[in-house]
Amino acid sequence: MNALEIRHLGYRYPDGTEALRDVSFSVAEGERVGLIGPNGAGKSTLLLHLNGLLPEHPPPEPAARVWGTPVTEPHLAAVRAQVGLLFQDPDDQLFCPTVWEDVAFGPQQLGVRGPELSDRVARALRQVGLADFEERLPHHLSRGEKRRVCLAGLLACEARLLALDEPTSDLDPRGRRELKALLGSLPVAQIIATHDLELVVEICPRVIVLDHGAVVAQGPTVELLNDEALMLSHGLERPHVLRHRHPH
Ligand code: ADP
Repeated sequence: MNALEIRHLGYRYPDGTEALRDVSFSVAEGERVGLIGPNGAGKSTLLLHLNGLLPEHPPPEPAARVWGTPVTEPHLAAVRAQVGLLFQDPDDQLFCPTVWEDVAFGPQQLGVRGPELSDRVARALRQVGLADFEERLPHHLSRGEKRRVCLAGLLACEARLLALDEPTSDLDPRGRRELKALLGSLPVAQIIATHDLELVVEICPRVIVLDHGAVVAQGPTVELLNDEALMLSHGLERPHVLRHRHPH
């Protein structure tokens, strides 16, 4: 069974902006898929749908399913236990007095307590390279550190599907390299919305191109990102890493 199935998903914000139009795709168990497109393409809106965070008027037929479970009430708690959503703005995700509490918050909501909770928090902070940050104040951290704390929170929940909105933005080169290695090593399904096309080339075998709320292309990453006409017509560019690998 697929980790994620989206069928004919459309969404209009309350002010009338049409943000998604007839979007359909799936993500297999353990698969990493890149979601690319220009600003305003609908990437963040799409990811918010994976946790049921947006629709005020859900369509009668659920458009998104996570391991077959519709992302609609009354299934939202079950869905949210499986999907780890990394928000585009880490300030939207951090609200506890210490890093430890922020990372522990998600697993606590899932009923994890005691030594298992401490182990999960310590492991997740180690994975994101912030082992010594447990007592730090989230709001005093740099943007890149905040982003890594948010990711640690998702890892501590042991989500089976990660939906990541710009995971590498604000990271320095070493942080980016480490995050790329971490994401590339996690065995869970991932959908990664990003402008970091090198990240997509390196860790996502498949890519979905979104523009004006619609899927304009999906397929093997190297093939699509090498298509200069496709890239340019959707506000993107052929990444340098491919110029070396596949000279035209
Ligand atoms: P991306 O993540 O690809 O940059 P978004 O999902 O943020 O795109 O935005 C898709 C479209 O929806 C854009 O036209 C954007 O202006 C609009 N949009 C985003 N958030 C809101 C909102 N809260 N209210 C109205 N329109 C919005």
